[in-house]
Amino acid sequence: MKENTLPRQVQVTDITGRDGFQNIREWIPTERKIAVLDLLVEAGVRKMEATAFVSPKAVPQMADAQSIAGHMRAAHPEVELVALAPNLRGAENAVAAGVGEISYVISASEAHNKANVNRSHAESLADLEEITQRFPDLRVNLSMSTVFGCPFSGETPVSQVLRLLDEALRRGAVSVSLCDTIGVANPSQVQAVVEAVRAKHPGLAPALHLHDTHGMGLANTLAALQSGITRFETAAGGLGGCPFAPGAAGNTSTEDMVNMLQRMGISTGIDLNKLLQAACLIKGKINPALTGRLAGARTYAEFDFFPSAKNR
Ligand code: ZN
Repeated sequence: MKENTLPRQVQVTDITGRDGFQNIREWIPTERKIAVLDLLVEAGVRKMEATAFVSPKAVPQMADAQSIAGHMRAAHPEVELVALAPNLRGAENAVAAGVGEISYVISASEAHNKANVNRSHAESLADLEEITQRFPDLRVNLSMSTVFGCPFSGETPVSQVLRLLDEALRRGAVSVSLCDTIGVANPSQVQAVVEAVRAKHPGLAPALHLHDTHGMGLANTLAALQSGITRFETAAGGLGGCPFAPGAAGNTSTEDMVNMLQRMGISTGIDLNKLLQAACLIKGKINPALTGRLAGARTYAEFDFFPSAKNR
């Protein structure tokens, strides 16, 4: 492996509170959600997408967004707090709750955008423009869904990704997350898309958001690292999924990614043992059937046989 091409440091944004919880049908009491998020912060997570300001009719699990955001601001001012918002109303509520950054969702595929947020690209982009004009202090990250493939329209052409990204940046989005919403990307495709985006926008530093539907989450992560990506979005235990994307599985798990990076000598600032406590709490109290690999481990120490992984 060409190690000199790999970054020394990676930012892992944990999205358990949003992508992880949104797809769980049974109501998770707010205190239980907070207990998980607190453990993640204790483990060293410093950027977190903790909730979503969406219609509670559409996604009932996110009905406590205001309480979650309030807790994060009061208890963890050191954490960069992000919340998903799909429209102007969501952005208004996020700002009112003191959130500094929103993930504004638009799907690269128009068919999925319709299913997910019930809008055309033009409508989503018009709202984006209004949000950035009305809230100049709010950071707006474009969370671009179905970048690699769509359950309704198949593989997404790179040209479509680039076009939508241009449109969003022109309307005031300042960064982008490239999301493999249904988990169909492969490492070659990841490199092709990432390289096309970076060639067009060299200063942008996109984040990658990978679902592990076909077991390629970490392989895609490695491909992205080799293409210069240093920001990833993951969920503890491998929770996650999209209520409007049939067939999607969970996110690449935070602890599996941190484990891989740590063993490769790439620092994340996150303590794996503490991260496993969060996965353990999720497994015990929220979802016993986690897909993350490490979530089944009793303790990390029992198989941490590469103590010198930092000297790569
Ligand atoms: Zn996702």
